[in-house]
Parts: sequence; structure tokens; C-alpha cells
Amino acid sequence: MLLWNGKLVNEEDVRVSYHDRGYYFGDGIYEVFRIYQGHLFEKEAHLDRLYNSLAEIKIRIPWSREELSDQLDQLRDTFGEQDGMLYLQFTRGEAKRAHAFPASSTAVMLGYCEPLARPVDAIENGIATITCEDVRWLRCNIKSLNLLPNTLAKQEAAEAGATEAILIRTDNTVTEGSSSNLLIVKNGTIYTHPDGPLILSGITKKVIERIASELQIPYVQRSFTREELMAADEAMITSTTMEAAPVITIDGQPVGTGTPGPVTRRLQEAYLQQVHALLAG
Ligand code: PLP
Repeated sequence: MLLWNGKLVNEEDVRVSYHDRGYYFGDGIYEVFRIYQGHLFEKEAHLDRLYNSLAEIKIRIPWSREELSDQLDQLRDTFGEQDGMLYLQFTRGEAKRAHAFPASSTAVMLGYCEPLARPVDAIENGIATITCEDVRWLRCNIKSLNLLPNTLAKQEAAEAGATEAILIRTDNTVTEGSSSNLLIVKNGTIYTHPDGPLILSGITKKVIERIASELQIPYVQRSFTREELMAADEAMITSTTMEAAPVITIDGQPVGTGTPGPVTRRLQEAYLQQVHALLAG
């Protein structure tokens, strides 16, 4: 089943207009929720970010947060008790093609669930990455449907046989991955780019921040350079689908010892405990 404008429907009942502004302009936003054995992980944090993205691009939706939350639960219930993800997007809706917002349009909602296993190999063994210039706009805090710079960077990584592209601005500031946040460890302290317009405020990163505080691992939000990245003892990417995956190489160079480091391992272990707590609760 799919969630289509507030209702659970079959795939055949979804009809997207070629006048949808999401199709013409990428005029919309999205969220990806993690499902662990039928449980939505960090649901409220994802809803907070969803509402923030909607407000940032001035899309109004006709459902209250409570109604939307119920609809997501209903969609998840149709999916059963498996591991997966819930994708949800809103576009500004249908209107004759013109850049400025139409006088009136109704937001179009699409949601669905898909099976997705935990990326155990990446989590256990780590991933290879490349660096890429961060050519994105200055409102990366919005989870916008416009992902062309991200898809191009990810494609570059794929063509290089790597899993993720680490984005670096022309001023030498390392921001995040093409679809993940980036954290490094130096002398026992975790560093990550501060939240704000240059990165997406990752929900997984927030979970890691909470865990670091519980484990009393120093956690500092400050930007760092390519040189600091390359000299890190450990590095990891975080995202809803990748959890916390160790970065073991960058542009072919090993990070630290070239194997997942001890701080990353402690965070991963505690992350898994949070997932188990969700399943138990
Ligand atoms: N940064 C970007 C550009 C992303 O696309 C994503 C996730 O897709 C993230 C960071 C990680 O965010 P989250 O942990 O909420 O999945």
C-alpha cells in the first residue's frame, strides 16, 4: 500500500500530473524514516525536520501533525514487522508551469515503505570514500527534492568504486557526505560541522551526539578542513539508512589505521542498544 494524499491506496490509484511542481522544479521536500522490525526509529525528530522543511519552502499541508503521524503508523502497519524505510514526500502540487508559486495549489503527498536490511558489511568493515567539491546551494538544512549536486557526487563515488562522496567547499571547509553527515575523531574528541545552512541536520548525527554525551566522549560542533580530515584518527558517516559507518579510506588514503576505530565502535554499540530499546519498548 502507498500513502497518497492522506489515504492508503494501491499503486494503480496513484496518478501524478505532469504539471506537478515537483516534476518541473523539484519544488518539494522529503523525509526518510527508518523502520526496525516494524518500529519507526526517531519518528518525532523526523517529523520535526519535515515540518521545518515544509515551513522553509512555504508548503502548507491540510493535516495536523497528529493526523499525519497516524497516517504514517497506518502505512507502517501495512508493511509488517520487517526492517525497512518509510519514504515520504510533499510537493507544492499541480499548476501550469511558472516559477512563482501558483495563487492556489494543493500539496501532493506520497509515502511508501520498502524493505531495507541493515548495511552490516559497511557497519562492520567500513567504507571507501572520495572527496568532491561541495557545489550545493546555501540552504542545505532543507531536505529538498532538488538533489542533483548530491546525485552527481554520489555517482562520482560509485564510478571510483567508493560508497560515499565527502563534500568540501571551495574555502576548504568539509561539510558532509552526499547523503550522510560526517564526523571525525582526533585525540579522542569527535568533531562535526555545526548544524546550519551548509548541511542537513541529520537525525542519526543527533542520536550520536546524545550517545557521545552519555558515554562522556567529547563532541564538538565546529567545521574542519581537508587537512584535518586526512589527519583524523577515525572518521564515520551517519545516516538513517547507513547508521554510523566507519570511513576507512578517503581518496585511496587510509584513515588512521585504515580499520574501524575504537570510538566509532563504542558509538555503534550504543546505537544498536538504542534500536534494541525501541524494539523492547
Ligand atoms: N546529509 C545529507 C545531504 C543527507 O541526504 C542525509 C540523509 O539522507 C543526511 C545528511 C543524514 O541525515 P539522517 O541522519 O537524518 O538520515
